[in-house]
Amino acid sequence: MQEEIKRMHPNIKKVLVSEEAIQTRCAELGKQITEDYRNLGKVPVVVSVLKGSVPFLVNLIKYIDLDIEFDFMAVSSYEGTESIGDVKIIMDLNRSIKGDHILMVEDIVDTGRTLKEVTKLMFNKGAESVKIVSLLDKPSRRVIDITADYVGFTIPNEFVVGFGLDFDEKYRNLPYVGVLKDECYQ
Ligand code: 5GP
Repeated sequence: MQEEIKRMHPNIKKVLVSEEAIQTRCAELGKQITEDYRNLGKVPVVVSVLKGSVPFLVNLIKYIDLDIEFDFMAVSSYEGTESIGDVKIIMDLNRSIKGDHILMVEDIVDTGRTLKEVTKLMFNKGAESVKIVSLLDKPSRRVIDITADYVGFTIPNEFVVGFGLDFDEKYRNLPYVGVLKDECYQ
């Protein structure tokens, strides 16, 4: 706790999810994912949605006790704190996923638009199955009826930064998830 206070960024108003809680939850999720995928008979492909999911991916895969492969894709849905509606594929996978079991790794499920689009894309590419693991879930903001298969933490309707999540590309490197001080948006 002392360590966390010491490392608290001056622009952070409050910590919503601590570094310790994230590590504990990654271990729990990794164990559950290992059990669920163990008997598939085929190596799952872990697809990380850039850039926000990278810290979560790095921590989560340490606890997946299976042979896995991973790949990356990038989509855009937000500018600043506002949704810009359409989800655009900025960077696509550069491998075939035909017949593969896909585990999508997301930073946060907010409106659900991104998840809906990337899930559709995975099936269009011939994926056998698609599951989603998201570090955070903000169900109060949902406009699309979609849920992640594995969720780290359900959070209230607040714009959060840290552990991969940015505000205008900053704060992604914070080891916790927090809320910015109001003056940061002015
Ligand atoms: P959705 O398509 O579900 O509305 O949004 C998903 C994407 O929006 C996330 O991958 C993330 O990049 C961004 N996003 C949604 N809520 C937040 C938030 O509270 N903070 C940050 N930094 N990004 C968010």
